[in-house]
Amino acid sequence: MNLVQARQRPAPTGIAGLSEAVVDLSAVKDNVRTFRRLTPHDVMAVVKADAFGHGAVPVARAALDAGATWLGVARADEALQLRAAGLTAPLLTWLYDAAELMLLGDMDVDVSVSTVAELQRVASVPAVKNVHLKLDTGLHRAGSTPDQWIELTRAAAHHEALGALVVRGIWSHLSHGDAPDAVQSRKQLQLLRTGVVLARRAGLNPSTIHLANSAGAITLDAPDCDVIRIGAGLYGIDETGIGLRPAMRLMSKAFQIRRIGAGEGVSYGHDFTAERDTTVLLVPLGYADGIPRVAVEQASVLCRGVRMPVVGRIAMDQFVVDAGDVPVDPGEPVTIFGDGSHGEPTAKDWADWAGTIPHEIYCGIGTRVPRRYEEATR
Ligand SMILES: *Cc1c(COP(=O)(O)O)cnc(C)c1O
Repeated sequence: MNLVQARQRPAPTGIAGLSEAVVDLSAVKDNVRTFRRLTPHDVMAVVKADAFGHGAVPVARAALDAGATWLGVARADEALQLRAAGLTAPLLTWLYDAAELMLLGDMDVDVSVSTVAELQRVASVPAVKNVHLKLDTGLHRAGSTPDQWIELTRAAAHHEALGALVVRGIWSHLSHGDAPDAVQSRKQLQLLRTGVVLARRAGLNPSTIHLANSAGAITLDAPDCDVIRIGAGLYGIDETGIGLRPAMRLMSKAFQIRRIGAGEGVSYGHDFTAERDTTVLLVPLGYADGIPRVAVEQASVLCRGVRMPVVGRIAMDQFVVDAGDVPVDPGEPVTIFGDGSHGEPTAKDWADWAGTIPHEIYCGIGTRVPRRYEEATR
């Protein structure tokens, strides 16, 4: 057994190494089921960026088990990774290079197309079959501009008639998916509808219309869409308060513990000085592992059931917490974040402390932190 295999083997008790990110796949499954219960749509599990740091392959498998029917990723290499792992579900990628098209086609990956030039490149690669034409309905990132849409759909119909490709989907992406009033989303839906009508008029017959992300799936009523693209929601980032469960728990162990006297400083520059005698413990995670340096003013962790503040600068590999007079032994488990059910902070708390969103916290958990998978039975 090599080292990598050894590290991925679940520990019988506690943590095998110093730190680990434990991903509860039953939370991912529950989250998929929540979207399926609350909406009439098929679910595309968006597992880009290694499933927001959770691990693309295990998360994709769990999501499909729970009834998702599509997979979506940003980049070509992410799509190929899923295919290499043996996942055969319909799979869409929207950021790829022309040089990657042959491989994508060979692996039966659907690709997004926004311009006639892209369409021609795709049509010239015989292996690529299914495309999703993307219409820019207001986000102003990728997508065809509305005034080029008719030309794009006509060109696509031409290539389809020649057997070069199939327009399987038409899609767009929301700019204000989490806005409860859905004013902008409804405008975008209206534009997409018009785009679909024009595409049909050009002779296309797309089977998969999709617009909403996790938040938009809840805020926007879009009965004419077939699929919702669920990223954040899979991981329990609950932007619309529908009772999703955070899937990741970031754990470490107290590495060293020491008593310091009043007036003594901690970590680089002694930004923190103890006001009274206290116990500080060293947590072996740092900004290289995704612990945001800027969170230090407000951050805390859970150890022995007690919230302990982070004190002193967060370094690359380690940070320090103030345990006060709580008795702590070396090796004591420390919860950096979890679902909050035991009084620990959540990834959302860390995001608030760092002035960002939980997406960035999850994506930032570094490759030095092994992922371990569990499925809690409830
Ligand atoms: C990331 C992404 C999604 C998923 O959005 P969430 O808000 O994370 O659910 C959907 N569609 C596209 C195009 C994306 O880039």
